[in-house]
Amino acid sequence: MKLVTRSQTSEILRKFGFRLSRDLGQNFLVDDNILQKILSASDLGPNDTILEIGAGIGTLTEALAKKVAKVISVEIDHKLIPILSQTLSGCENVKIINADVLDLDVSQLAFDGASATKMVSNLPYSVAAPVILKCFIEQENISEMVVMVQREIAERILADPGNKNYGAFTVKLRYFCRAEKLMTVSRHSFLPEPNINSMVIKLTRWEKPPVGIDRHRLFELVGAGFGQRRKMLVNSVSGVLKIDKALIEAAQEAAGLSKKIRAENLTLTEFARLAEKLQNLGHLS
Ligand code: SAM
Repeated sequence: MKLVTRSQTSEILRKFGFRLSRDLGQNFLVDDNILQKILSASDLGPNDTILEIGAGIGTLTEALAKKVAKVISVEIDHKLIPILSQTLSGCENVKIINADVLDLDVSQLAFDGASATKMVSNLPYSVAAPVILKCFIEQENISEMVVMVQREIAERILADPGNKNYGAFTVKLRYFCRAEKLMTVSRHSFLPEPNINSMVIKLTRWEKPPVGIDRHRLFELVGAGFGQRRKMLVNSVSGVLKIDKALIEAAQEAAGLSKKIRAENLTLTEFARLAEKLQNLGHLS
């Protein structure tokens, strides 16, 4: 069954009397041209096991299943499960998990003993950022992600220091991977149409993290730094982590950073250097 058309998707939704949820980001892909581009950007091989978050009615799931060994797909909405049973009835190599991905331990997701090495997804808008980080953190086998996200999330992923979209999410993600923009996708490629356009982004995990510091310490500092992003870093960090300002200034100086620096101007490497100095001074857990 070719699901990726407006008429086929509406027909299935109508047949099952399905009511779309905006809160769950249910904007289904109805553009075959974009679907094919996602597949070819994902470099799929016949032995691959793919993780998909958000099966919807199975549009991307079905296309992936034709190209790879196994697809593990998580879908939160139980009302989609009977639909998926029908649309994916010919796909023996798909395992659907009816759960909120945020409640799962992604490291435990496997299909006949195989865990995913790539993630390919049209992600639900409201949880796209935490889902991407969670999957990189919990499933170390995932080396690559090709994900469709709404433009605002893509801009946060791709932002450089100094840009208004550069934030804690950007820095944390950079710890795991490099990011490249593959294409912009018009809102007309979805049913129903979201308010803004989307982008497909490729995330490639570094062979090893670009900085050596313990990830928990680093992320604690990054979170604190952006906690009050309009403030100078010293004020934000001391407010959130309850560290004396003079000590933070000493660590900033030791890390070669200006006392007036703000989190939005710090690269990942600079955050790591500062975390190391604070740790040496005994002020980061
Ligand atoms: N893959 C389909 C496609 O491309 O047409 C559907 C993509 S749609 C943008 C996102 C899907 O994610 C929806 O089916 C929604 O129900 C599901 N979803 C939303 N939040 C979720 C969560 N926390 N865990 C798992 N699935 C979720």
